[in-house]
Amino acid sequence: MPSIFSKIIAGEIPSKKVYSDDLVTAFWDINPQRAVHILIVPNKEIRTVSEVTAEDELMLGRMFTAARRIAEDLGIAQSGYRLIVNCGEHGGQEVPHVHMHLLGGESVGPMLKRKSAE
Ligand code: 5GP
Repeated sequence: MPSIFSKIIAGEIPSKKVYSDDLVTAFWDINPQRAVHILIVPNKEIRTVSEVTAEDELMLGRMFTAARRIAEDLGIAQSGYRLIVNCGEHGGQEVPHVHMHLLGGESVGPMLKRKSAE
């Protein structure tokens, strides 16, 4: 079964794409957590960071250069942004297809809430 992100990359499910190339595709998160919330996703379906290999290093690097380019295109490179990759159950990963969140356009806030505040 292809992941929901593979279906988006294939154009089978609509999305607001902001960038795509031979290795990665980026589109707006359906439930944005900040003014800018983009998902940068490898075109190759890998379930989690725990499953990446040395063969994936070009694609993993491309996720960062795509993030830099998208931040520039959306006008948030100077104000700053946060990149997040969740992995597995404790990391809070919901979609089993590696992806990087790019969040910005306003302050993203402290990196983590203290456990006592949850
Ligand atoms: P995770 O928790 O796995 O790191 O993040 C998954 C993200 O995917 C969530 O922020 C969620 O809103 C987003 N998402 C889930 N389904 C869809 C979808 O069908 N389209 C888009 N654009 N984003 C989705």
